[in-house]
Amino acid sequence: MQKISCGWQLCKVITYIGKRMWTCPQCGRIFEKANQPHSCKRVPLEQHFKDKQKAKTLFDYLFMRINSGIGECQIISLPCCVHLFGRYDFLAALPKKDRLEIRFTSDREMDHPGFHHCVPMSARVFKICLDVL
Ligand SMILES: [Zn+2]
Repeated sequence: MQKISCGWQLCKVITYIGKRMWTCPQCGRIFEKANQPHSCKRVPLEQHFKDKQKAKTLFDYLFMRINSGIGECQIISLPCCVHLFGRYDFLAALPKKDRLEIRFTSDREMDHPGFHHCVPMSARVFKICLDVL
């Protein structure tokens, strides 16, 4: 990772393997696009899992498997959902009473009986949603 300064007062641009990333000066989240609209607000992780023990168990297992099998990531607990962050936010987890909904993006359309949505967000980005039971 190579850091470069961009001349903006409070912002910094970070280059990840040739890709410029933008870090929000308020909350420290990292995005591909400079000044990406987002909420800087965070909420305690436990708040998402209040009365959702099954979703917590599923999330803990998923987080452990990603960290040990794919690569280290961080948990970013936002008001809307829980993001996992590696080099960028790559997964959103939405705890439900009886399941954990997972959302991620792909550069291609994917079809699987477990996916309940695969919708285009742009010409090259698809949002995929699935439930983990
Ligand atoms: Zn922010």
